[in-house]
Amino acid sequence: MARYGLVIDLKKCFGCRSCVAACKIENMVQKGNYWNFVIEYEEGTYPNVKRFFIPMNCMHCDNPPCMKACPEKAIKKNEYGIVLIDYDKCRGKRYCIAACPYGVIHYINKKENYFPDYETPYETLKENLRHPLHRKKPGIAEKCTLCWHRIEKAIKEGKKPGSDYDSTPACVPVCPAGARYFGDLDDPESEVVKLIKKRNGKRLKEEFGTNPKVYYLF
Ligand code: SF4
Ligand code: SF4
Repeated sequence: MARYGLVIDLKKCFGCRSCVAACKIENMVQKGNYWNFVIEYEEGTYPNVKRFFIPMNCMHCDNPPCMKACPEKAIKKNEYGIVLIDYDKCRGKRYCIAACPYGVIHYINKKENYFPDYETPYETLKENLRHPLHRKKPGIAEKCTLCWHRIEKAIKEGKKPGSDYDSTPACVPVCPAGARYFGDLDDPESEVVKLIKKRNGKRLKEEFGTNPKVYYLF
């Protein structure tokens, strides 16, 4: 069974936030929330200053503290290692938000359209026409799903996840710098595994024992 994850090349990322916009649109993320965001920091003293960008989304931890913290057992890791929230079970207690060391889970406080006098096509879309992971409502937690709706569809259609645009997480192909990679972390022949080996890929906050599946190339 594959174990999917991401590799993000920080040498290529220049902070344009195309991945942030793609994620918002693809997953109809609640106004004010971000399943994917970019942390920015500077090093040095003017005029010798360098700026760095670190895109952050759910790390799909192999040992996810959010899952353990949820009293409703609403968070599960699926057979491909993807950590998902069951919106029907979530009661919005927010233990997961406190437990996640990466700050990537968000609470939906209220239903709010993007524009005061206009409903976007998504906002008019009937609940039963949406993927279950897009049937969000006030009073629940939301986060990156590694675009499970795309991966699941690819698997059902007999395609290899990541083999084309539609079967790859939305944030990956939109990156103009080609800084994001998706693939099977258990396949020694996959591009992600080769990159991690060659560039000594690092994971964030490994000391928490979370075993995250997002690797960064510095
Ligand atoms: Fe859970 Fe946070 Fe790990 Fe994602 S990064 S699996 S939300 S603990
Ligand atoms: Fe958003 Fe999908 Fe990328 Fe996760 S994998 S950050 S849900 S676009």
